[in-house]
Amino acid sequence: MASVRVAVRLRPMNRREKDLTAKNIIEIKGDKTTITNLRIPDGITGDSMRERKKTFTYDFSYDSADSKSNTFVSQEKVFKDLGSDVLKAAFQGYNACIFAYGQTGSGKSYTMMGNPGDAGLIPRICEGLFSRIAGMTRWDEASFRTEVSYLEIYNERVRDLLRRKSTQTYNLRVREHPKDGPYVEDLSKHLVQNYHDVEVLMEAGNINRTTAATGMNDTSSRSHAIFTINFTQAKFDTEMPCETISQIHLVDLAGSERADATGATGVRLKEGGNINKSLVTLGNVISALADLSQDGVNTNLKKKQVFVPYRDSVLTWLLKDSLGGNSKTIMIATISPADVNYGETLSTLRYANRAKNIINKPTINEDCNV
Ligand code: ADP
Ligand code: MG
Repeated sequence: MASVRVAVRLRPMNRREKDLTAKNIIEIKGDKTTITNLRIPDGITGDSMRERKKTFTYDFSYDSADSKSNTFVSQEKVFKDLGSDVLKAAFQGYNACIFAYGQTGSGKSYTMMGNPGDAGLIPRICEGLFSRIAGMTRWDEASFRTEVSYLEIYNERVRDLLRRKSTQTYNLRVREHPKDGPYVEDLSKHLVQNYHDVEVLMEAGNINRTTAATGMNDTSSRSHAIFTINFTQAKFDTEMPCETISQIHLVDLAGSERADATGATGVRLKEGGNINKSLVTLGNVISALADLSQDGVNTNLKKKQVFVPYRDSVLTWLLKDSLGGNSKTIMIATISPADVNYGETLSTLRYANRAKNIINKPTINEDCNV
């Protein structure tokens, strides 16, 4: 049993926020993240003070607001903490998942993919995988196989980002394997031998994603991207030949501003179409799982009465194992420092806070006598 671990990451003020002379309302100190509501006057004590400042605690707290500050957290540090753990899990034969959650522009893609010369978690994890394999001394006793796929979910439909065909349609079907669970039918899987192979695919996939975005009214902020690594190790050093299989999902979610159905206006709901469905369902799944884990504490809630609505959206169905199942999972909540984003940031911090309660059951995926 292992809880989903939750990280918060604060980005720098952007140009727009600076132009608006936005105020910084986030303070990260140690493992405490405090958000201030500037609409509530300072200097009051008691309940009002509690309304003005709210403090949250997460497993990892990353202040990346100011690269000159001595508490600044770089891409490398985020990888060293979270990425290395995923690599370790992969080599042990566990499934792992990292997903980034936050409003559009808060730093999800920067954290997961990064910028040229400033790589994020996905490239660093892939690079780390191959450098670990290269560093192994007892080559003859194990062999490795790495395959990647990259897909996008938009309006509850799935598209393969690694198919070269120019006919890019969202028409892949999600099916369920009796043993292995939900999967995307006909999704291309690409065998990769080294980091360069991955780089080429990643680039093609990213271009695929953004090309569609310009033509389709900012699809990328409304779509979920899942980069998956299937990592198989065959070991010959024991009496019984064994294979361990690890699946790693690295997920860049759609902007969370569309997650909150109550906050979305009619217009936005309409233009967003089904995009709300996966994010709203993700929220419902997280809530249900959080309730389940409270079961022992709260006698009013019986396990049987908590229904986890995985099947209600494509995203939650595909990530079923990563949420309350067989996976070591990390959620990264990305936030803006600016007062103009107070509402969205508070909602992200609360969402992340609920996710801390999810209990997963990771097991080593070993298949012997293969
Ligand atoms: P999202 O994917 O959540 O919509 P992005 O990752 O695209 O947001 O980030 C929006 C902008 O802010 C990008 O230009 C990105 O490079 C920049 N940015 C985000 N997070 C950071 C960070 N921690 N440090 C520096 N720049 C960042
Ligand atoms: Mg993005």
